[in-house]
Amino acid sequence: DALNQSISELRDIDVSFEFFPPKTEAMETTLWKSVERLAPLKPAYMSVTYGANSGERDRTHEIVKRIQQQTGVVAAPHLTCIDASRDELVNIAKDYWDSGIRRIVALRGDLPPGTTEKPAMYASDLVELLRDVADFDISVAAYPEKHPEAPNSQFDLLNLKRKAEAGATEAISQFFFDASVFLRFRDRAAAAGIDLDIVPGILPVTNYQTLLRFAGFTNVHVPSWLHKQFEGLDESDQTTRNLLGANIAMDLVKVLAKEGVKHFHFYTLNRSELSYAICHMLGVRATA
Ligand code: FAD
Repeated sequence: DALNQSISELRDIDVSFEFFPPKTEAMETTLWKSVERLAPLKPAYMSVTYGANSGERDRTHEIVKRIQQQTGVVAAPHLTCIDASRDELVNIAKDYWDSGIRRIVALRGDLPPGTTEKPAMYASDLVELLRDVADFDISVAAYPEKHPEAPNSQFDLLNLKRKAEAGATEAISQFFFDASVFLRFRDRAAAAGIDLDIVPGILPVTNYQTLLRFAGFTNVHVPSWLHKQFEGLDESDQTTRNLLGANIAMDLVKVLAKEGVKHFHFYTLNRSELSYAICHMLGVRATA
C-alpha cells in the first residue's frame, strides 16, 4: 500500500526508450509501431543501438533521423569506438551533428572474441573526442554488477568517474533485477564523487531463455525467484509471460521510484506493450 501510495503521488518522471535496428521486414513493422505508440509519452529521448563491428552504423543513423522527423522526439544513436579510428569517429560525430543529432550514447563496444591486446580507445576516450567535436549530450554505460572485464567493482567505478570527468552527462545502467543492487551502486557512485545522473536500465522480461543468454555474457545475476516465476510456462503462451514480465518490472520500478529515481530507461526490445504499461503505472501519460 505504501508503495502504491507513493507511486500515485509521483510527479515529473522522465523516461527513455531503447530500440535496435530490426533484421526482418516483420520486425521493421513492429519497431515503427512501437515508436509511434511510445512517442506520445514524450520520452526524454529514444536511443538506437549499433552493434560494434556489425557494419550497420548507417542503419542506426537512418532510424534515428526518421524517429526525429516522424515524432519530434530527440533520438540518440549508440556509437562504439572499438571498431573505428579516431579520424573516422570525428567524421561520424560531425555528420551526426550536421544532421541535427544532439545526443549520443557513447560506448566502447565488446572486444572481438579472442582479443588479447589492449584496445586503442575506451569509452572515456570517445566521450573526450565527442566533446571536442560539438556540444553533444552524452550518455555512457554503467554496470551495477561490474563490467565483465573489470578486475573489481572499484576499478569499474573509477572508469565511470573518468567518463563523467571526460564530459558525459548521464549514465544508463546495465539491466538488473534486484533494486538494492542498483541503489547500492548509486550510493557508491555518489560517495566516489561521480556527478552523473545514473539512470536505471529496465529490461521487461518476456522470454526467460533469451534473458539467460543475455545475462550470461553481461555478468548480470539472475535471481532464483525469477527462474521460478517463468519455470514451467508454455513457450507459446506469450500473454501470460507478458503479464509476468510486466509485474516483475513494475515491482522493481516501484521500489526505485520510491527511492527517488526520476528517470527510467527501457530496453524495449522494439516492443511497446510492457514499457507502455509500466510508464502508465508511473503516471507518465500520453500527450497530443
Ligand atoms: P568502457 O567504459 O570503456 O569499459 C570497458 C571495460 O574496460 C570495463 O571493464 C572498464 O572497467 C575497463 N577499462 C576502462 N578504461 C580502462 C583502462 N584505461 N585500462 C584498462 N581497463 C579499462 N554494445 C554495442 O556494441 N552496441 C550498443 O549499442 C551497445 N549499447 C549499450 C547500451 C548500454 C546502456 C550498455 C550498458 C551497454 C551497451 N553495449 C553496447 C555494450 C558495451 O559496448 C559493452 O558492455 C562493452 O564491453 C563495454 O562498453 P563501455 O562503453 O562500458 O566500455
